[in-house]
This record gives sequence, structure tokens and C-alpha cells, in this order.
Amino acid sequence: MTDDFTDFKPESLYFIPLGGSGEFGKNLNLYGWNGHWLMVDLGISFHHPDHPPGSLIMPDIAFIEQRRKALTGLIITHAHEDHIGAVAYLWPRLRCPIYATPFAAAFLRAKLRDNGMDYPEMDLIEINPGEQFYVGPFHCRMASITHSIPESTMVEIKTKHGRVVHTGDWKLDQVPSVGDTYDTALYEEMGSEGVLLAVSDSTNANIPGRSGDEIDVQYGLTKLFSRLPHRIFVTCFSSNVGRIKSIARAAAANDRKVILAGRSLWRFSRIARDLGYFDDIEKFDGPEALRKIPRHKCVVVCTGSQGEPMAALSRIATGQHPKIAAIPGDHVVFSSRIIPGNEEEIATMQTRLKLAAQEVITPQDTAETIYASGHPCADEVAQMYNWLKPQKVMPVHGTTVHQQANAEIAKRCGVTDVLAPQNGQVVKVAPGPMEVVGQVQSGMLVSSPEEY
Ligand SMILES: [Zn+2]
Ligand SMILES: [Zn+2]
Repeated sequence: MTDDFTDFKPESLYFIPLGGSGEFGKNLNLYGWNGHWLMVDLGISFHHPDHPPGSLIMPDIAFIEQRRKALTGLIITHAHEDHIGAVAYLWPRLRCPIYATPFAAAFLRAKLRDNGMDYPEMDLIEINPGEQFYVGPFHCRMASITHSIPESTMVEIKTKHGRVVHTGDWKLDQVPSVGDTYDTALYEEMGSEGVLLAVSDSTNANIPGRSGDEIDVQYGLTKLFSRLPHRIFVTCFSSNVGRIKSIARAAAANDRKVILAGRSLWRFSRIARDLGYFDDIEKFDGPEALRKIPRHKCVVVCTGSQGEPMAALSRIATGQHPKIAAIPGDHVVFSSRIIPGNEEEIATMQTRLKLAAQEVITPQDTAETIYASGHPCADEVAQMYNWLKPQKVMPVHGTTVHQQANAEIAKRCGVTDVLAPQNGQVVKVAPGPMEVVGQVQSGMLVSSPEEY
């Protein structure tokens, strides 16, 4: 595109979101300094009102593809699809080194293998949380933070203008069921040494209070399961490894076996088990075990909490699952939230499940806590700003409404230089106050479900 902004000053630090700002999904963030670019995350979206369900939606990478020789590397904050999902498809157009934690790297390798994609030349470098490394001129460190998947990290980027903290997705979970807890001392240390800019998760910034701890979900599920007499189906996000573990512990406490239904649940569970995150829970069975286990002695964890037509729960609801048939009296527990845009698909699926005379239990239907978000609510966002004491804040990972809510929190915490960017905007971060100085091509690349 010829009218892209090109007047980059070598001494200035720039930030350009090519996805994830002004929307949920397909996160792609670029940091630029002195002719070098650093990419943080390269994700997908699954949902867009103009495209059929199941379409693969990726960020338009034309801007950075044209500069790929100057792209020093890609850092993946964690293994969620909205952060890592486009790597398999777009990396051949970028060919830069990739830095990821062992869990995210294992997930990427498994995904490439499952899709028959083989890039022997891919330079995938494993970085443990806490480790420091250089990506071109950018001095980086992955810092542990709690979220809903193991090894979620914030990225610390030391630049000539100061320290940038790119939070990735996070929450403050005091008792995470998998992985490290968050590191208050480290965030305070960064704050006392000085943070130029925090680029932060806006997902729940408009929700007051806190997101809640995973341990309360485990207790809630344990209590709920204890009063359900028949077979229990539970659905959650496949990537929510912490939730899978909470379900397994709740099932064990009720003397029930856990059966997994759905390819992506198996993929995440295998990686979690390989890396030791499931050492203290029993091995899972596949749906074929249902023939041998009495109905009141199992919990079947299913993919498809968002009503995805090809996922296990939808196929069970329509009677099309080859190995699992729901029968009257079964209970279906939704340990998940509705992602905006999926209301219709979920409602249709729940109606079908109820018609099959099954009890459907959502987080709203029960007094027990059976769901907690993986993203920080307003009090947690404020807490993080109080630790980091950033001079500047840039809210990302959300629609404009969410970004604005995050911006308001930052201002209440005393941050005066706050800017909520939109995809494609070129933000000059430093020197001087933040400012949108131009626009580059952004948008989406869409593949229909058959094409990938
Ligand atoms: Zn995310
Ligand atoms: Zn995430």
C-alpha cells in the first residue's frame, strides 16, 4: 500500500497494533526502534459477523511482511489461539526467529504436526519465564503472570527510552491450579526501577472488582457434582488447562472418572501432562471407556462451549457424535462464558440439549462458582498499575469500550499519558508524549473452514 506511513525517525520508539486493538482476537503488536521491529504475538480470531462460523481470521501482515528483513523476532506471550494461532499459517511469509515458553513452543509444534505443516527451518527458541534474552536491539525478559493456561508471560522490553511492559493476557490468581503464581515483588521492582510504558489487557476492565481464583471454581464444581446423580458433561475452553485440572479434581473428589471428548482438549492435555502440569491427577480416558463406566461414575469433558458446529458438544446435542449419545437425565455443565457473537449458536445448542431431556447448568443457573475469567477486572488492573507505576499506558486486547475503561483506570492511578490505539495506527511512544503519527495497512485475512 503506497500511502502507508513511512516517516519513521530512528531515535523514536514506535508501537503499531496490527490486530487486537479495537477488537477481541488476532493479536499482533509491533515495537519499532531505529529500523528494527519486534513482534509480540501473532494470533487468530474465530468469529466475525461477516464470515461463516469456523472461518479462520488472521491479521493483515502486509506492513511487516514488506519489512521482514528488519523484523528481529516474534515473542509469543502464551499459547492461546488469539496470540499464537496465526503463526502456523503466516510464519512462512515472515521467517523470523520465534521466542516462546516451553508450553507455548510444544503447543506450536503439536499444531504444526497435526496440520501436516513442516518448517524445519523455523527457529523456535524456548525461553523460560524469568529468562533474559536479546531480540535484535531489544533486551527482553519473560515474566510469569497468572492466566488460564500454563506459562503465561508478560514481556519486559528494555529500550533506549525506558522499559516497556507488555502484559499479555493475565489475571491475579492467588491459587492457580497450574503453573507459577504471579510475582508481586518483580512487578514492584520494575516499578521502582522505572516503567516507561505498560501495554495492557483490557478484556474485563469494564467489570468492577476481581476475576476470582481458580481454586474457588474447583470447590464450586466439587459441590455441584456432588448433587448431580447422573452422567455429567462439562464444557470449557480446551486451552483452559487450569480448568481441566479443576474439573479433574472435582471429579476425583466425587469418585468419578474423567473422559475427554474433542481433539483440542486432548492436544492441550497431552502437552500439560508431558510438561508435568497434570502429574497429580489421574490419566484421562477417551469416549470408548464410556461403555465400561457406570453413568454416575464419570464426567465427560467436551469441546464446544461456544456452540462450534464440529465440536463434541454440538455433535452430542444433535445426536451426531459417533461415540457419545446423551440420554434423558444427563447433566450438562457450562464452565465457560459466552463470547460475544456466539449467543445464537450457544442458545440453539442448549435448546437441543434440553430437548434431549438433559439438565443444562450455566454459571448463572447455580449458586456455586463454576467459572472464573482469565482476565483482570478493574481492581486487578489498578493493582498492576500501582505496582508498575508506568509513566504511560496503552490499553490493548479489547474493543474501544474495554480500552476506554482500562484508560480510565490508568488515569485514576495517576497516569497522565494514556492512549488507546486502534489497529493500524502508528503510535510514537517516545520521546515526548504519546501521539498517533500515522496509519499503516491493517485488516484481516480470512480463510473459510475448508481452506485450512
Ligand atoms: Zn488473549
Ligand atoms: Zn489468553
